[in-house]
Order: sequence, then C-alpha cells, then structure tokens
Amino acid sequence: MTKPTLRVSEMFYSIQGEGPFCGQPSVFLRLQGCNLTCGGKTTLKSKQCEEGATWRCDSIEVWTKGKQWGFDEICKEWEDQHWIQKLKNGAHLIITGGEPLLQIQALELFLTYYLERYKQLPFIEIETNGTIEPSSLLRTYINHYNVSFKLTNSGLKKQQYYLKKAIQYFAKLENAIFKFVVSSKEDVKELELLYISPFQLKQSKIILMPSADNRQALKALEPSIIEFCKEKSWRYSTRLHIEVWDKKTGV
Ligand code: SF4
Repeated sequence: MTKPTLRVSEMFYSIQGEGPFCGQPSVFLRLQGCNLTCGGKTTLKSKQCEEGATWRCDSIEVWTKGKQWGFDEICKEWEDQHWIQKLKNGAHLIITGGEPLLQIQALELFLTYYLERYKQLPFIEIETNGTIEPSSLLRTYINHYNVSFKLTNSGLKKQQYYLKKAIQYFAKLENAIFKFVVSSKEDVKELELLYISPFQLKQSKIILMPSADNRQALKALEPSIIEFCKEKSWRYSTRLHIEVWDKKTGV
C-alpha cells in the first residue's frame, strides 16, 4: 500500500496575521492547490488584477507549487524545528492554502496520525474559501474556521465561489468566523445581500479586511474600512504579515 501524503507548498513558524487570533504564534501548513484563482482566471500568468478584480491572491505564486510529504517526514521536520514543542505549549496549527479542504482525506489521516504519535492535538485553525464542506471526522479535529467567502471584487464568476450548500453549512458552524476582503461601499452592500441576509450570518462573526497585498495599499485603505466596520458594528482585521513583512511570504 502506498504511504499517505499531503501536497505541501510551505511550512513555517510565525504569527497569525489575520482574524480573531491575529498575533497568535502559529505553525503554518500551507497545502498546495486551490479551486479558485482570485484576481482573475489567468492572474498567475499576467500577475495583474483581471476581470474587474480589485485584488489578487497574495499566495498564488506559493500554493501553485509544492511537493508530496509523507506524514513521518512532516513530523520529523517539525521535531527538528522544535515546532512540536511550540504546539504543545499553545501555538496554533494553521492549515491554509490554497484551499486546504481539497485534501480532506489526507488531512483526516494526517491529524489522526499526529494524534496517535503525540497523544494530543494542538489548537487547529483552518483557512478556507467556503466552497467545500469538511468531513464529519475532520470537523472533530478543527477548533476554529476562518471562512473567507468571495465577492465580485475577486474577479471570479459567481458560480465558482457562491455555492449555497457549502455557505449554508459554514453559516451554521458555531466555531466559524467570516472574513471579507473589501475596498468599497459596493463590496459591503454585496456581502450583506449575498451572504448576511440570505444565510443569517451572525453580525458578531463578520470581519472586514482591506483588499491589499502590499503595505502601501493596506495603509491607504485602512481608514475607510475601519469606518465601514464602525458603521455596521463589525470587526476590523488588519493583515499583520503585510504590515510587518510587506509582500514576503513564509515568514
Ligand atoms: S481562495 Fe484563497 S487561496 Fe484560493 S485563490 Fe482565492 S485567496 Fe488565493
């Protein structure tokens, strides 16, 4: 039997840069592949925002590459880097991508393997675009979901990101929050119409983030997005990794 593997783009130890756990020391497991291409269909090649997009995926150059890692290989690497101890001490494990739920089965197997090997799991956050439902087994392992539903400003076709069954599923999860990348009043109106009203998303779980992939753009947009948050009583999230490291990833 072939050994199970995960397709991994990068692994690193840093701090959570977004959302309710912003600032939390975390081990990042970035999985390869995504079912969307925020920024437009051929944004990877053009490196531009296409099809009316106001932002493009800031990790697309990373998650399009990767290699297969055996579970033992991953754990040995984390042991060598002393990350297992950090996870035991309370660092979060952030499973991100790309879209990590494209690898549900391998993730189930990996977390089961991890639990058997170390007798405990860390606090696990998963970052998802909200188009794929997790399995019931995987759900027992995940402590927190950062769900980033998409809008027209992603440059994608609505049928690619607006999958009602999946949205309904995440809307009902107690341990999910909803992050929206916005830059204008139109974006705010759209997310209310597409997501909040029809799926009754809890207002207290809505987080707005500026649609910026570099420090300069982030600084320029911040004040207006904070005003939207104040008006609606939603939470604001910066993108700490961009504030600190600008366009560099894996740090
Ligand atoms: S869903 Fe996330 S990872 Fe995939 S292209 Fe969009 S921003 Fe990037």
